[in-house]
Amino acid sequence: MKILVINCGSSSLKYQLIDSDSEKWLAKGLCERIGIDGSQISYQPAGGDKEETVSPMPDHKEAIRLVLDALTNDKTGVLKSLDEIDAVGHRIVHGGEKFADSTIINDEVIKAIEECNDLAPLHNPANLIGINACKALMPNTPMVAVFDTAFHQTMPEKAYMYGLPYEYYKKYKIRRYGFHGTSHSFVSKRAAELLGKKYEDLKIIVCHLGNGASISAVKNGKCVDTSMGLTPLQGLIMGTRSGDIDPAIMEFIAHKENKNIDEIMTILNKKSGVQGLSDNLSSDFRDLEKEHNAGNPNATRTLETFCYAVAKYVGSYVAAMNGVDVICFTAGIGENAPLVRKWVCEYFGYLGVKIDDEANGKRGEDIVISTPDSKTKVMVIPTNEELAIARETVKLVK
Ligand code: AMP
Repeated sequence: MKILVINCGSSSLKYQLIDSDSEKWLAKGLCERIGIDGSQISYQPAGGDKEETVSPMPDHKEAIRLVLDALTNDKTGVLKSLDEIDAVGHRIVHGGEKFADSTIINDEVIKAIEECNDLAPLHNPANLIGINACKALMPNTPMVAVFDTAFHQTMPEKAYMYGLPYEYYKKYKIRRYGFHGTSHSFVSKRAAELLGKKYEDLKIIVCHLGNGASISAVKNGKCVDTSMGLTPLQGLIMGTRSGDIDPAIMEFIAHKENKNIDEIMTILNKKSGVQGLSDNLSSDFRDLEKEHNAGNPNATRTLETFCYAVAKYVGSYVAAMNGVDVICFTAGIGENAPLVRKWVCEYFGYLGVKIDDEANGKRGEDIVISTPDSKTKVMVIPTNEELAIARETVKLVK
């Protein structure tokens, strides 16, 4: 089957056309600056060069129309007609407590996703725009919603409740949801497969370290805890997001700097994380590593603090699961930053972890980076959220 995977943000749209039999992508690209001057679409067919075209995109419907044009155009298109697309898989950020699994999209599902808008005001409305645009342009093609939160719905109550008045849970469903679920699910299943063990027999910790970063604990095939919360702001220190802080800091900064709550939230989401902590050196770990190697103390402090936070979360999940069989690193930093993996793993002497420096230096493949005599396995597994969405889509439309 040919599956179009759509990941719609507020002003961007990532897409990939995947052949589900070979599990290879046939074409992929990105629409940027939707609704803003200077919109552009990139398009790359498998085995071909990437093209970038500046083209006005006043809304997401136009962006999707351009994507469909690119996929079917005479010169570089990979499809003869849109009828060849068997189904569309949409990444949806927040499924609240309603969606513990992916689902075929119908009017009722659209309404239920709308009801989760409050929980992800920046993401869910954009995801819905993508669904509606596809519906208008491909009315007869089945569509599937794959939720970032769904994998974490197996968490027990004690892991998802906050120490807040219970009425807020009852009234507003304020609780931990967790995100990056498609990635945590993909990577943990792949770890079991690579180790030749049953998923249901393992205790796995997945460190998804990208610009957004989260860790999850997967015990006997089910997520039992994760570091992101009601929103993707909680947990690890991220590219520009603060992660965990003392909540009273918000009031402190508000008074000292004369800021309102919206301004404080912008600071926590956009100006904090490694970007803020490095005194605005960079939010990118490539820059931070370079600066650390050049002896810049801002970079060293930032990398050390980031790695310490990762190690503490892993430790807390070892406690929650009463052990761990395998620790997996994935996403931009997890897959590409040997220094971060090394520094994080230095905290795991109590788990009997020993790292093979040569294996840790490799990139772009599934690999065990612990030594054969390491008591706990450590692996790098490149994530593939698009493929995971395509698999879910095929499962439901077949
Ligand atoms: P993601 O959100 O998963 O796409 O990850 C993006 C982040 O990965 C970037 O902001 C970088 O911090 C990090 N990253 C990507 N490539 C490298 C690399 N070669 N070395 C270190 N960090 C990297």
